[in-house]
Amino acid sequence: MINFTVGPVQSSAEVRAIGAEHVPYFRTPEFSAVMLENEALMQRFAKAPEGARTVFITGSGTASMEAAVMNVFTPADKVLLVNGGSFGQRFHELCEIHQIPFEEIKLETGRALTAAHLAAYENKGFTGFLVNIHETSTGVRYNADLIGDFCRRNGLFLVVDAISSFLADKFDMAAVGADVMITGSQKALACPPGVSVMVLSKRAVERIEGNQVRCMYLDLKSALKNGERGQTPFTPAVGTLLQIHARLKAIEAAGGVEVETAKIAALAADFRSRIAGLPLTVCSESMSNAVTPLMTQNCSAYDVFTVLKDEYGIWVCPNGGEYKERIFRVGHIGDLTVEDNAVLADALHDLVKRGILR
Ligand SMILES: *Cc1c(COP(=O)(O)O)cnc(C)c1O
Repeated sequence: MINFTVGPVQSSAEVRAIGAEHVPYFRTPEFSAVMLENEALMQRFAKAPEGARTVFITGSGTASMEAAVMNVFTPADKVLLVNGGSFGQRFHELCEIHQIPFEEIKLETGRALTAAHLAAYENKGFTGFLVNIHETSTGVRYNADLIGDFCRRNGLFLVVDAISSFLADKFDMAAVGADVMITGSQKALACPPGVSVMVLSKRAVERIEGNQVRCMYLDLKSALKNGERGQTPFTPAVGTLLQIHARLKAIEAAGGVEVETAKIAALAADFRSRIAGLPLTVCSESMSNAVTPLMTQNCSAYDVFTVLKDEYGIWVCPNGGEYKERIFRVGHIGDLTVEDNAVLADALHDLVKRGILR
């Protein structure tokens, strides 16, 4: 199998080998040291501001999206959110569930966020901003500098879901002025699913300390307190955290976040150069390096996904909902090579010959 989905993605041999080991007991100085190093490396790679903290939640990315909404906002806030697809819609639903007042900028599929979209919301009494910096469902990456400037001008508290973008695209939390940055283990961290990570600015930590959260598991106060000594309040996904540690250390040893991002960017560019001439249209105004979203012209995108999976052993990522028959996505995160890209491109050309891709 070659996995070109957007998560879970392929892991390195080193990360997979850890998955074959027994999972150790974790209330130990050894595991605390691993977690403290995880925290430091996450902050370095996110370019977190001075005084930042990181919490590791056992739960997929959505758990950290929900924890962010619950812990940093209250019904006294007024939040602006960008809804350009199913992950933006998830923030919409989370605000509803937790009774956080909000308005949303609804974007058509494939459309980028522009200054004109934001202009209507200047000086309108908003206190927070929620965005999925790469809306993975449609493969649209928003301009973080544009959003950061808007938030700074209007004094907004900025929460960035960078779940599929962290490591794949350049992101500088301090320069953008983001207060919360979220990612997940199964995207470009290329580990098994089950852990999500929140990097928190000092201002975010202060908000959390001052908020009452009616939830035990996702109350970040206890995660922050335990994290001071490299521990978590409850049993975490210990094995996955050890895998994340190996992966973060490997990125560091290979030259750091810039080198990793350049590698993913090169893979994406290589793939995009190979699909010229195929009856497929890139359907995003502004792509992340993580994903290429492709629209079919005269055939079912879901059939392409199914035939690639069943007859070629290649997994691309199907779309759900209204775009199931029109769009599939090719991921460039995880342990992939240009040789893998060549195999996928050959298969797509073969589907054209067979009349399946048209
Ligand atoms: C993958 C992803 C998530 C999280 O999804 P989970 O299934 O909960 O891990 C959230 N936001 C974005 C932008 C994503 O790509």
